[in-house]
Amino acid sequence: MKLYLATGNSHKIEELRAMLAAAGLSIEVNGPTALGGMPTVEEDQETFSGNALKKARALAALLPDGAFSLADDSGLCVDALDGAPGVYSARFAGEDATDSDNTNKLLHMLGALGHVDRSAAFQCHLAIVSKGGEERVFKGECRGEIIREKAGEGGFGYDPVFVPSGFTKTFAELSQSEKGGMSHRGKAMAKLIRWLEAISN
Ligand code: IMP
Repeated sequence: MKLYLATGNSHKIEELRAMLAAAGLSIEVNGPTALGGMPTVEEDQETFSGNALKKARALAALLPDGAFSLADDSGLCVDALDGAPGVYSARFAGEDATDSDNTNKLLHMLGALGHVDRSAAFQCHLAIVSKGGEERVFKGECRGEIIREKAGEGGFGYDPVFVPSGFTKTFAELSQSEKGGMSHRGKAMAKLIRWLEAISN
């Protein structure tokens, strides 16, 4: 089976590839460059699933016969901010915002609220679309807390300020496999892998 990742985010590609490799499935995993690059997609849907399907469908249009495209739409939902930044996580501080800009904005907004509950959840919706038009979405959630100062150098996005429930380290202080074992992406991927195993038998 050939799978093409419908994302230009190198961190997501690295995490998704590692999880698929660890599952030991006989799948050839390719980035979007193998199909000439990820088509431009406006992520204008109100849900993670909507955006994930939009990205997967855009790359599916370029797939060779028998192949699948896989897209990840994900983000951080902070309870005290009524679920923000949510689907706007990548551009919370503006269209060209860096991970650091977004994280600083989040810390600033939460800091301005004083002593509020800092609980949050990362959400990941994985959409897989076949060349023939079959579609599935698999979802994962990881709850935790936003700490007051960044800690750790690993990962990407909001990882330096997110401590998963039951842990004392941020995602950015954990190894990629430790993060993947409990993360929103790891949980969604575990469901996808079970489905891939079922359809390959
Ligand atoms: P997307 O490309 O629209 O799905 O945006 C995802 C954004 O959510 C990223 O740019 C990050 O800001 C954030 N995000 C998603 N997953 C993670 C993660 O595993 N760690 C940290 N931030 C994440």
